[in-house]
Amino acid sequence: MIVAIDGPAASGKGTIARRLAAHFGLPHLDTGLLYRATARALIDDGGRLDDPQAAQAAARGLSLTEFDEARLRGREMGEAASVVAALSEVRAALVGLQRDFAHRLGGAVLDGRDIGTIIAPDADVKIFVTASPETRAQRRALELRARGESVDYAAVLDDIRKRDARDSGRATAPLKAAPDAHVLDTTDLDIDGAFAAALAVVERKVRGAAGRD
Ligand code: C5P
Repeated sequence: MIVAIDGPAASGKGTIARRLAAHFGLPHLDTGLLYRATARALIDDGGRLDDPQAAQAAARGLSLTEFDEARLRGREMGEAASVVAALSEVRAALVGLQRDFAHRLGGAVLDGRDIGTIIAPDADVKIFVTASPETRAQRRALELRARGESVDYAAVLDDIRKRDARDSGRATAPLKAAPDAHVLDTTDLDIDGAFAAALAVVERKVRGAAGRD
C-alpha cells in the first residue's frame, strides 16, 4: 500500500505520516528533508540557492543515511529548501529516489508537496492535509521554540505565507491537492484527532479495495 500525504508547512502532515507508517508497519519518507538537505549542502559548499547546476549537483550527491535531521529542521532551512525546490533541475534529480522509495515491495508512506500528483500518482491513498495559516504559524512557532529557537509569531506567520505562495505558485510540481485526494482540514483538530481522521480515511480505502465497502 502506498500512502501519499501532501500539504503546506505545519499542516500536521509529517506527524500524520509518521504515525500512519508506525500503525501499518510501513517505511516512511519525509521528502521535505531531501530539499532541506539539498539547500544545506549548497550553502555549506558556498553555492547560491538559485544556481540550478550547483543545486542539481548538491541534490544528486545526497545520501539518505547521512541526514542530520536536527540541523535540517530549523526555520532558516525551511525557507532555503523552498527556494531550491522551485528549480526543475533539483526536482528532476530527486524524483527517482522518491519513486523507488514509494514503490518498494510492501508499500510506504511519503509526505511532501507533490507525492499524490507527481511522485506516486498511483498511490492507494492520498490525503491532502491543510489548516489555516494562523493555526499553522502557531504550531510552527511552538515547535521552533521547543527546539530552542527564539521566534515571534508574526515572523513565523509571514514565513508561512511566503512559503505557501512560493510552493503553490512555482511552475514545476506546485503544491496542490491531487483530484482524487481526500482533503483533511486540521485547523480545529489536535494531533490525535488529526491522526484518527487520517486513519479512518486509509481504513475506508483499504475496505473499499477489498470490496467490503
Ligand atoms: O515539508 P518541509 O517544510 O520540510 O519542506 C521544506 C520545503 O521543501 C517546502 O517548503 C517545499 O518548498 C519543499 N518541498 C517540495 N516538495 C516536497 C517536499 C518539500 O517542494 N515533496
